Formats: sequence, structure tokens, C-alpha cells
Amino acid sequence: MRILSGLARILIVCLFVILSHECLGADGPRQRSILVLEEADFRSPFYLEIFTGISAAAKQNGKIHTVIYGESLDLARFPGPDYEESLVGHLKSKYAQRQIDVIVSIGVASAKFLQTRKQEIWPTAPVVYGFVPDLPETRALFLPDTTAIFARVRPTHLLTAARAIVPDLTHVVLVGGAWKNPLVYGQWKQDFAAAMPGLEVTDLSDATLREVRKQVAALPARSAILTSAMYSDGEGTYYSPAAALARVAESANRPIVITSDTFLGRSGVGGFLLLPDSIGREAGEVAMRILDGEAPSSIPPFSGDNVKPIFDWRELQRWNVDEANLPAGSEVRFREPSFWERHYWHSTIVASVVLIQALMITALLRERRLRFLAEIEARQRMSELAHLNRRATVGEMSASIAHELNQPLAAILINAEAAQQVLRHPAPDLGEISEILDHIRRDDQRAAEVIHRLRSFLKRDPAERRELDLNATVGEVFRFLSVQALTHDVELATEPSPANIRVKADKIQLQQAILNLVVNAMDAVAHLPDDRRHVVGRTSLVDGNQALVSIADTGDGVLAEKMTEIFKPFFTTKAQGMGIGLSIAHTIVEAHGGRIWAENVPSGGAVFHVSLPLAAQR
Ligand code: ADP
Repeated sequence: MRILSGLARILIVCLFVILSHECLGADGPRQRSILVLEEADFRSPFYLEIFTGISAAAKQNGKIHTVIYGESLDLARFPGPDYEESLVGHLKSKYAQRQIDVIVSIGVASAKFLQTRKQEIWPTAPVVYGFVPDLPETRALFLPDTTAIFARVRPTHLLTAARAIVPDLTHVVLVGGAWKNPLVYGQWKQDFAAAMPGLEVTDLSDATLREVRKQVAALPARSAILTSAMYSDGEGTYYSPAAALARVAESANRPIVITSDTFLGRSGVGGFLLLPDSIGREAGEVAMRILDGEAPSSIPPFSGDNVKPIFDWRELQRWNVDEANLPAGSEVRFREPSFWERHYWHSTIVASVVLIQALMITALLRERRLRFLAEIEARQRMSELAHLNRRATVGEMSASIAHELNQPLAAILINAEAAQQVLRHPAPDLGEISEILDHIRRDDQRAAEVIHRLRSFLKRDPAERRELDLNATVGEVFRFLSVQALTHDVELATEPSPANIRVKADKIQLQQAILNLVVNAMDAVAHLPDDRRHVVGRTSLVDGNQALVSIADTGDGVLAEKMTEIFKPFFTTKAQGMGIGLSIAHTIVEAHGGRIWAENVPSGGAVFHVSLPLAAQR
């Protein structure tokens, strides 16, 4: 029995524990509730955003599920005691079985409703007032056990925005019912007078929409339209404020200052805008604090961060507004992306391609310049070599020079002796003496010419191009080499063109090039039997626009595979050769815009051709 009663006791204790746990679960806060009372219609964008803001705050903050009920009191469109009475009855029966943990009241009209009717419907629920201005009149509406978050666009806010948009503002037009409401813009007269004495004001807050549209179509230049929400006009026609604003904007000829960001993008320029989402969030956050246990009276009413200067970029452009004039901290929306932002990738690619191209062009130009400098340097070297080459040639030809000088000197000597003979005669023939002296002078000139030629051949002047006779120039070279040819037993001959061929060239350089070809030709035949030791220099006209000098020999010719190589510096097949004669000739001819090449002739021997543009062609 004792055991049984012990067991029963344990069972009873267990049952109690289980039951008490269950009971706790049933009594504990499984869910909480917020009732949002909006003065207007939930379906208008402004009030919808407030409700959405409250829901978002509840979702974010709550650990316990929070039910949100919402009621549109719609008091602006349904004024009067009958509607209010029916509304109270409806709400009483609707919420009779529902626990409301906190009421969020949105708008002044809603606050007023609660002031007189809350006791009947929700006597114990604490209240958070949102979207109410911080005015003594509104504070007077607050019931005990409540708190508030203020939100308000002041009349001066509208004026400040208007002056930013129209800097020389003298006139404003007031549109929308709120201008009549003492709890919204009611004090505007005093505020405007204090902020801008002398401001001309046209109050259309009572006018019909038709009348407003007519008036705003013909406003003077230095004016702006200051709007507040327009729910109905003087004729009792109800509008959604956004639709009313759009209708006003259609006919307005001046910029429109607005008060809510839900109106932005509907032809309002902007202004200090109410942010309904922030209004909702702030009220929702305070409601959650109350649900979490804070007493409403411990949260003093405060001003929310729910008004901000915001402007529509497109409207700023339309009215030529300088962004620098906008109030500090203004946000500009709907800014069109710049060309750069719109075409960022295209522009980047094009810019990169252009940059790469520019770099490549720079590199190529640099390369060209370096090559140009190198060419100048090479030419300089070549000119030095040419000079050496000439001196070497003259050295080699000293015999022929001596021979050329010898002739006139010997003739002078003979003539001088002859003159002496004549003078020894008692009656010297003065006519004969004069003739002898003439001969002496002519021979002296010949000797002087030889020396002059030699000196000019050796001088190292910078290139000096003149128009010259090609036949004579080639003839001089052959004459110059005639003694050397005689020494080596080579037959030199020229076949000048019957035409007068004129080229523009540096005579010394051109003669140097031809001389090198003739010397090579003589070398090529030097070892051959007598009957094959011939060198011929020809000049001719080709295609009517080119002069051609051809030096032909009867030697063994050039090795076919070396036809181009022989023009490279230091290429030689001769034991004593330097390998610079042809490369100098090549450089000189190219510098004159001509061409040099070699070919073997079938009958045996090589021909070196130099073609040059005619003087008239240049
Ligand atoms: P070098 O006469 O000192 O050798 P060049 O530059 O004047 O230097 O000539 C280069 C080479 O071209 C010669 O060594 C020779 O092999 C070839 N050459 C030049 N002229 C002739 C020619 N008329 N016949 C055959 N070979 C020639």
C-alpha cells in the first residue's frame, strides 16, 4: 500500500509538471499583434509604403511572430459623424475577439479619431503615433500611455526648395488641401512673411482642379508652384494625390515643388520630401520595443529622420537649375548615365585599342628615327670611306697624274727653250715669240687644270648637287684613268649617247662611283690576253626619263650567286681588295635616287649599270 501511495505521489508530481509545462506554453506569448490605423487609404502609394515599412521593421526585429492588422480610416474622403459612428461599431465588433498589443496610428486624422474613440474599442492598447507634426496642437491629441515619432515638411522647406530652383523667385502658387490644414501648413503666412517679406502668394488650395490647371498654365517667369497632397478639390471630387499632381503638371508652365518621394518622377522637380518607408520603419521599430516590454511613456516622442531634400535630375535640366544651388545634402535621382557610364566597356575597349595603336605608332616612329640616325651615321662613315677610297685611287694613279703633268711641263720647257733661241737672234721675230708664249700659257693652264681636278677630286666638301652633262662627266673619268689604263695595257673607250643627258648630281661623288666601276673593270681584264683587255663606258637614255651609265668589260664576269652580295661592304674576291669600291658606288647612286646593278653578258664579261633620274624629272 505504501509502495502504491508512493507511486501515486510520483505520478501526480509528473502529471503536474507536464500540465504546468503545457499551461505555460498556452499562456506564453505565442504571437503578438500590431494594429496599423491609417488616416487615409492603404492603396495610395504613400500609405502603402508606410505600412510596408512597419511590416519590415516588425519582421526584422521580432523573435516572436507578430501579426499586423491594418485599417484604412479614409477620413479625408469620408468625413462626418455618421461614418465615424459606423466605423467605431465596425471596429468594435471586428476586434472584439482579437488581442491588440500596440496600435500604430498614422496621421493627424487618425490621432484625432483615437483621442475620442479609442476607449470604446481598444481601451488598454498602448499607442505609437507616426506621421504627425511636432506641434502643440498635435501633442494635445496624444493619449496617456503613448509615444510619437514626428514627421513634417514645413512651409519654409517648400520655400527653400523653390528658391533653389528659381533663384530670383518673387511669386509662389499654393496648390493642395494641406495648405488649409492648421496642423500641416496652417502657419504658412507667418512663416513666409518671416522668410521672404514681399513674396507674392496665390492661394489655390480651395480652387477646383480645373481652375488650378488653368491658373498654373500662365504663371509669370519668377514663380514656382508649391504643392501639398490633393485629395479633393473645391467641388468635392476625390483624387489620388499622385493623379491630381500629374494633372496639374500637365498644364503647369513653372516648376512644381513637391513633398513626398512617391510624387517624384511625376513632373515634380523635388523638394524636401517625406520618406514614407522611413516613417513606417521608425514607427514599426518603436512598436516592437513596446512589444518587447518597454513602457510607451519611457520612450519620449522624437523627430524621425524621414524628410530629405531630393530632386529629379531630368526636371533640374528642364528648368536649368544649377545643382550647386540645391540645399546641402540634396540627393539627385534619375540622373542619366553619362556617355562614359553608358558605354563603359565599349569606350574602354576603344580607348585601349587607340592607346595600343598610339604606343605602337610611337614605337614605330622611334624605330624610324633611330634608323634614320643610323642611316645618317652610315652615310657619314661611307663618305669618310669614299674619301679614303679616293685618296687610295689617286695614290694608285700617281703615275698617270705625273704623266698628265709631265706633258704640259715638258711642252713649257721646250717652248721656253725655243723662245730663248729666237731671242738670241739679232732681230728676233716678236710675232713668233708671242706665239710661243701663247703655247706656254696654254700648257700652263693644262697643268693647272690637272692639279685643280686632283684637288677637287680629293676635297671633302659636303655633297653639292648641280645639273651636269653626263657625257662630259663620264668622259672626264675615262680621261683621268687613261694613263693608268695605258700602264696596264687596257683599252679604254667611251661611247657617249648622242643625246645631251643632264642629271642633277654631286659631280665628284658621281665620278667617284663611275671611277670605282671602271677601275674594277680594268682589274677584271688585267690578267687576260691582249685581245680581251677592253673596257667600254656607255651613256644612254632609257624610257625617256632615265639616264644610264654602263661600264662593260670583257673579263670573266661576276659569279651569278654573288650578283647582289658584291655591293655589300667588305665583300672582295681580290687578294689586295678592300671590298668597299662597289658599296661606295651603291651608296652614292642610291643617295642620288638612282639604282646600280650588275649583269653578265653572254659574250663574256660583266656590265655594271647606273641609272639616274634626268635633271628635268626632279
Ligand atoms: P674590291 O675591288 O676591293 O674587291 P669592290 O667593292 O670594288 O671591292 O668589289 C667587290 C667585288 O666585286 C670584287 O672583289 C669582285 O669580286 C667583284 N667585282 C667587281 N667588279 C667586277 C667586274 N667588273 N667583274 C667581275 N667581278 C667584279
